[in-house]
Amino acid sequence: MEQKENHKRIAMFSIHSDPLASLGSQESGGQNIYVRYLAEELGRLGWEVDIFTRLDNPRKNQIARISKNSRVIRLKGGPVGYVPKKELFSFLPEIFDNFLHFINFENPYILFHGHYWDGGAVALEAFKKFQKPFVQNFHSIGIVRVETKKRFLDNGSVDNSYVESRTEMEKEIIKNSSVIISLAESEKQSLIQFYGCPEEKVQVIRGGVDVKHWPLIEKEKARDTLGLDKKSFVILFVGRLEWRKGIGTIISAARLLREKITGLKILIVGGKIFGRDINAADFKEYKRLQKKAEEEGVGDILSFAGSMDHGRLPAYYRSADVFVVPSYYEPFGLVVLEGMASKVPVIASSVGGLAITIKDGKTGLLFEPRNALSLQEKIMELYKSESLASVLVQNAFEEISKNYSWQNVTEKIAVIYNSLITGESK
Ligand code: UDP
Repeated sequence: MEQKENHKRIAMFSIHSDPLASLGSQESGGQNIYVRYLAEELGRLGWEVDIFTRLDNPRKNQIARISKNSRVIRLKGGPVGYVPKKELFSFLPEIFDNFLHFINFENPYILFHGHYWDGGAVALEAFKKFQKPFVQNFHSIGIVRVETKKRFLDNGSVDNSYVESRTEMEKEIIKNSSVIISLAESEKQSLIQFYGCPEEKVQVIRGGVDVKHWPLIEKEKARDTLGLDKKSFVILFVGRLEWRKGIGTIISAARLLREKITGLKILIVGGKIFGRDINAADFKEYKRLQKKAEEEGVGDILSFAGSMDHGRLPAYYRSADVFVVPSYYEPFGLVVLEGMASKVPVIASSVGGLAITIKDGKTGLLFEPRNALSLQEKIMELYKSESLASVLVQNAFEEISKNYSWQNVTEKIAVIYNSLITGESK
């Protein structure tokens, strides 16, 4: 490869999250979308972006192009197959070594950008070796996950060895990075409070949504496509099947609602739970939720669609009467923006980025996390008032059209890159 340092050539590290992977499973969600859009938009601004990720499937090519100026480069690290995030530590040195081989030990990049603790760990090594500016996005942080479990889980089981190693790594990344980009003010506060991160190191730049990707298909047509009854009242969830996503709260709320709403239906999108490609952790969570639904007496109105690629999601969003995001912990929550772009009323728990994106009573409704009673009240408000739903939807659409484009996100990030690069050359 060309080794000459290019004035606009950067390396990103997104180790567990291949931006070209299919979405909706343990390791593939918001981060994949974020990295992919960021790389594409940076390409439009004239940046060349190489995204390094772990080779997790023997059928994948080592190099794949995302757009004219951006590509994904898959490096071997451990077995060429699925490895849970918490087991990645021991493979990171091999990945870094393969990165060095890929660039022939001569660095062509002017900046390193890490994503999540694993990508940050590799970016940190690159920074130490080549002394180029180091930008970091955490996407989620270890201590807050633990605090969330302590707050909401009765048996609060936490894998301590993983948490300790992850937290130590996050501290190292915070210490050495030039700038940390947080998607919400809440993450910035957590970095300061739990990690002693200097305030001035963190810049808040919210996530984005590509409105063109969310066509406003007619609701009846969308329901036809999915074989859904026109008279049902559909509550939709979209996301990875993880405990912290709070799907259990929707199930408990459904028990309270089923006598009040005729034709109530709960539709869950996400999780590799069908076919040959089943993910064991997704499947376990699916079974747990099914069991809970049976216990709550709502098994018959709950259905799981499995994971869907973005191209198939508009029909789901457009079929819904209400879109619920019930997370216990949510650093940002891109799905909220997708719901808003799809003009479906959004109800979200008042945590993390959700409570910042949604202006309660104006662009959506917020409820108390893990409180089924609070959620069912909000759903009833929307069920009873079509006018409330249409006002929320209208305001939400205006809000995202004005403030949440990927172009906007990327321009702000490019300003950070430029200031670090020019600062360095002074
Ligand atoms: N998603 C998807 N298919 C699925 C489930 C989720 O495409 O079956 C996408 C969803 O549309 C969104 C992303 O995965 O773009 C989830 O991002 P979010 O920030 O809400 O959650 P995260 O995955 O980062 O926890």
